[in-house]
Amino acid sequence: GVRLRGVSKRFSSAGAPVLEGIDLDIAQGEFVCLLGASGCGKSTLLNIVAGLERPTTGDVEVAGGGAALMFQESALFPWLTASRNIELALKFRGVPRAERRERAAELLSLVRLDGSGDKRVHELSGGMRQRVALARSLAQERDVLLMDEPFAALDAITRDLLHDELERVWEQTGRTIVFITHNVREAVRLGQRVLLMSSRPGRIVREWDVDVYGANEQRSIEAAAASR
Ligand code: ATP
Ligand code: MG
Repeated sequence: GVRLRGVSKRFSSAGAPVLEGIDLDIAQGEFVCLLGASGCGKSTLLNIVAGLERPTTGDVEVAGGGAALMFQESALFPWLTASRNIELALKFRGVPRAERRERAAELLSLVRLDGSGDKRVHELSGGMRQRVALARSLAQERDVLLMDEPFAALDAITRDLLHDELERVWEQTGRTIVFITHNVREAVRLGQRVLLMSSRPGRIVREWDVDVYGANEQRSIEAAAASR
């Protein structure tokens, strides 16, 4: 899980705070979506949880040795194969060479890319690349998976497929997932809980528990998001 207490962030001592007084508890295995207008501080918050940015004040605790981060531009090595990209993440984690290829194949199978491991990333479609990126994030073996608009660049049909895949991966791996999106429909489709952030300063202003269908929440969230 994730626990934030009084987290604030300023990028310069003269400037206004980007985040202020954020308290947040995310349970182990929970799937939380984070919504909010552009520039309200969603990525900054995720980067703080990921340890890429330090909070100006406040405490951050992340279980399971830290968090893996995945974003819109997958940052894979395009000239390497899908398998090699994952093997590199396994190497970084200290997995012995003899085990890496088989473990990479298992991870590719988990995201339904069996048989594509020897394709170079630049030969893959956008949806396949994000599957590879997801497999690579899983290779990091962290309890917490942070996703910053990972499917924003995909077409609607591919995105729907990836939603199904991500949900299955979440159920199979028991990961804690924090997922940023601009899309209310995507948030209620995926999240057990949806958090809405406001800007200047960035704060979590409302949250919803989402039922199986999400239809009631979707209307309420759309209205709340539009009024900010
Ligand atoms: P979007 O939905 O467009 O991705 P966001 O909610 O993720 O937006 P952030 O990227 O977290 O927003 O940015 C929040 C604010 O912090 C913005 O005003 C941005 O200009 C500022 N900011 C972000 N990173 C830095 C940085 N490294 N240095 C200075 N200011 C920054
Ligand atoms: Mg962002």
